[in-house]
Amino acid sequence: MNKYLFPIYAVILGFIIVKLTKNKPVKNIKILLAFSGAFLMSLTFFELFPEVFEHLDYKRAGLFIMIGVLFQIFLEFFSKGAEHGHVHIHKNSSTFPWLIFISLCIHAFLEGFPIHQHNDMVYGVLIHKIPIAILITTYLFQSGFKNFQIIAFLLLFAIMTPLGTVISNNVELRPGLLTHINAVVIGIFLHISTTILFESSEGHKFNLNKILAIITAVAIAYFI
Ligand SMILES: [Zn+2]
Ligand SMILES: [Zn+2]
Repeated sequence: MNKYLFPIYAVILGFIIVKLTKNKPVKNIKILLAFSGAFLMSLTFFELFPEVFEHLDYKRAGLFIMIGVLFQIFLEFFSKGAEHGHVHIHKNSSTFPWLIFISLCIHAFLEGFPIHQHNDMVYGVLIHKIPIAILITTYLFQSGFKNFQIIAFLLLFAIMTPLGTVISNNVELRPGLLTHINAVVIGIFLHISTTILFESSEGHKFNLNKILAIITAVAIAYFI
């Protein structure tokens, strides 16, 4: 099976889940979010960090990771946090949500870059995309957009990640450019995964299921 297509399956799966639950808020989405955040963060530490720090000067790697964090903060001014799990619904806004769409696409495109056949990053992106796809699809339906707008939005959003992967794996880029982009993606992943984990714990209350989800995610990422 071609791993590069996994992120597309995540969006399709999210869409199917929303259809099956008939737009009702998906139960346990917070648990799924917590799991996905912890899983993405662990894979970033286990797989991406060593790769980037092996090829880049330490301080330079750190600088580009910070650039990634800042870039994601910047993107979220426009997406309002859709990459990490919340979109605000404006009932019956018939205009296409261009800002959310474009910032989500830039994010999705970049997160395709560190995916290779020889690493497991694709699983992190796959799991991270499922709850996001659920939330975005729910938002699109509840906002009353037309069906073709919703399909176009999801379709383009879905192909952005494989597009990034194909470019990073097949296009002859300037030597070192790929490692720099991967460092930026580390920053993006760190920002969204910490935000997901932070926002999934309401008022820092102890929640056994959430803790178990997080520990399981770390363990799976470690042994994968
Ligand atoms: Zn947020
Ligand atoms: Zn993402």
